[in-house]
Amino acid sequence: MFLKRIELSGFKSFADRTELEFVRGITAVVGPNGSGKSNISDGIRWVLGEQSAKSLRGGNMQDIIFAGSDSRKAVNIGEVSLTLDNQDKALPLDFSEVTVTRRVHRNGDSEYLINKQPCRLKDITELFMDTGIGKEAYSIIGQGRIEEILSTRSEDRRGIFEEASGIVKYKSRKKRSAEEA
Ligand code: ATP
Repeated sequence: MFLKRIELSGFKSFADRTELEFVRGITAVVGPNGSGKSNISDGIRWVLGEQSAKSLRGGNMQDIIFAGSDSRKAVNIGEVSLTLDNQDKALPLDFSEVTVTRRVHRNGDSEYLINKQPCRLKDITELFMDTGIGKEAYSIIGQGRIEEILSTRSEDRRGIFEEASGIVKYKSRKKRSAEEA
């Protein structure tokens, strides 16, 4: 699956609307300490549905909204959009490009959108299940995560292989129908 673009606006250190276009091959983001490199990967995990403010290095979800600086006032909305190429229909949607968006307002309201249509978090989670893309999936490996993967409990390690082999969606549906029964 090919990540084409990420747009961040009012998210963490990205006060202004910032768009990063990715090309085929490897993209490296380089910059001094504290310049916001990890904020980009936080943005990717956030738009994919991350619910833990702590794992986004904040105290609560509103902490992801640009809080202002010496020269800039704080903003009231944080938003991230992720655009994936879907010409191969790897995502089960009849669009050649899929954009997922998450937005949070300072009053706590939040929205999720798929191709600009409002949706539920569950729709986004299901869309990416078994694709290897997801807030817990193996495609996003943050600082220190490799060590965690190597040293963590065997059940947690198994989760990574289940995601890669494409059975997570079936397992989660089975669990849901058992709960509903
Ligand atoms: P390192 O190389 O040290 O890991 P980095 O380039 O990955 O650094 P980040 O950790 O992504 O940098 O960025 C941290 C910066 O983001 C800090 O300067 C912090 O003040 C800023 N920041 C985080 N959240 C917000 C926010 N809500 N509003 C404004 N700035 C923020």
